[in-house]
Amino acid sequence: MNFSVKEIYHTIQGEGARSGRAAVFCRFSGCNLWSGLEHQRKNAVCNFCDTDFNGTDGQNGGKFLTAEKLASTIERVWVDSTSDSDHRYIVFTGGEPGLQISAELVSSLQTKRFEVAIETNGTVALPENLDWVTVSPKTWNSFVVTKGSELKFVFPQKKLAPEEFKLLDFEHFYIQPKFDEQYDDNLLKSLDFCLKYPKWKLSLQTHKYVGIL
Ligand code: SF4
Repeated sequence: MNFSVKEIYHTIQGEGARSGRAAVFCRFSGCNLWSGLEHQRKNAVCNFCDTDFNGTDGQNGGKFLTAEKLASTIERVWVDSTSDSDHRYIVFTGGEPGLQISAELVSSLQTKRFEVAIETNGTVALPENLDWVTVSPKTWNSFVVTKGSELKFVFPQKKLAPEEFKLLDFEHFYIQPKFDEQYDDNLLKSLDFCLKYPKWKLSLQTHKYVGIL
């Protein structure tokens, strides 16, 4: 398996139940719901993406020929960035990380004492051995990841409503205001939703408030 990685960096998780926790983020290249090309955004299945996930030209990015090579690079980023060799935490994101992640990669990292998390749009089947699964749905088409740790609904969306997901098998249910030109209004609507439906908690993209990646 050959892995295409946009970037690997050490940061603080900004969203959801693990918000505030130090992590290495590994951003895989490519997504199945948008090409990443601006001129194709309007007609994409997912058209509010705020991430550059194309290519392999970011920090520590590149092509990795084996799971072990990618896992070793992630370990090096952790060791170089922290003064604690425990509490290791890796978050796979994208793009859509489900297109590339493998059980072998997950277990390589677990052997190196990492807790392994993923942030997925839920349209690709995932390895069974992941430790933490965050699903952020963008479409019902091909939606297959119906259980996990947290469901994070970017709110509002034209073609999806959070209520459609409320019976799925997740530990946490989050509403996260969409970060676009209507953000203030999206935030008010999200607050209102969480007040009315207390199964759902508010997730803020705190990394954007404090100015970190
Ligand atoms: S599914 Fe995620 S990575 Fe893909 S285009 Fe949408 S927001 Fe971006």
